[in-house]
Amino acid sequence: MRVDVVTLFPDMIDAPLSESIVGRARNEGLLELGFSNPRDFAADRHGTVDDRPYGGGTGMVMMAEPVYRAIGKVKRKGTYVVLLTPKGVRFDQGLAVKLSAKKHLVLVCGHYEGIDERVSSSADLELSIGDYVLTGGEPAAVAVIDAVTRLLPGVLRKKDAAVNETFTDGLLEAPHYTRPGVWRGKKVPGVLLSGDHARIAAWRRRSAESLTGKRRPDLKKPPRAAGRKGF
Ligand code: SAM
Repeated sequence: MRVDVVTLFPDMIDAPLSESIVGRARNEGLLELGFSNPRDFAADRHGTVDDRPYGGGTGMVMMAEPVYRAIGKVKRKGTYVVLLTPKGVRFDQGLAVKLSAKKHLVLVCGHYEGIDERVSSSADLELSIGDYVLTGGEPAAVAVIDAVTRLLPGVLRKKDAAVNETFTDGLLEAPHYTRPGVWRGKKVPGVLLSGDHARIAAWRRRSAESLTGKRRPDLKKPPRAAGRKGF
């Protein structure tokens, strides 16, 4: 898969996505990550990309033309363009799965007060990573790329590593334990030491259902991603 990010601050994305599993996926060519900077398309020699909002108010707004041209530089036939905004549909595992099936994503990061609204018609999807406001779209792009990359074939070493995880089955995952068997007086549940795979699977299922019922009963509802534009 290829992902291009339209951003004024590529280092905020490149550095965290150079480490660990995603860094390895990039080194192995499973994920190609590129950047397109609206500043390269500024109309003046100062590289101005923002201006004051029409109608007054605080902060600066990213101008439409440099962002539009930065998208155009990397967009090709079949590209799926995602605008990151707190006003978008909420990102979830179902959307991560659907985005991981795309061949080429372009993620557009706003900064300051956001991007001139007229650019939104260039996007296939407006996406929020949660009900809070970040200073810019870059941490959101990192979260989306990380969640999508680990779903790409070959990225996780064990074939089924992403199969039983939290959110995949409308459930939170059962708890994990590792050695030692007793840690500061707390014991690992005995069933996990039994070697009986059927009992272990049943215990994990029960634990997952009980945890989900207590913490996230809303997960039992049908996935929200169904029927969205472009999927
Ligand atoms: N003034 C905007 C509002 O109230 O909706 C917030 C702009 S925010 C300070 C600047 C940029 O950060 C946005 O254009 C967007 O790209 C990004 N951003 C902030 N929160 C986000 C979130 N929850 N999900 C995705 N992107 C977000």
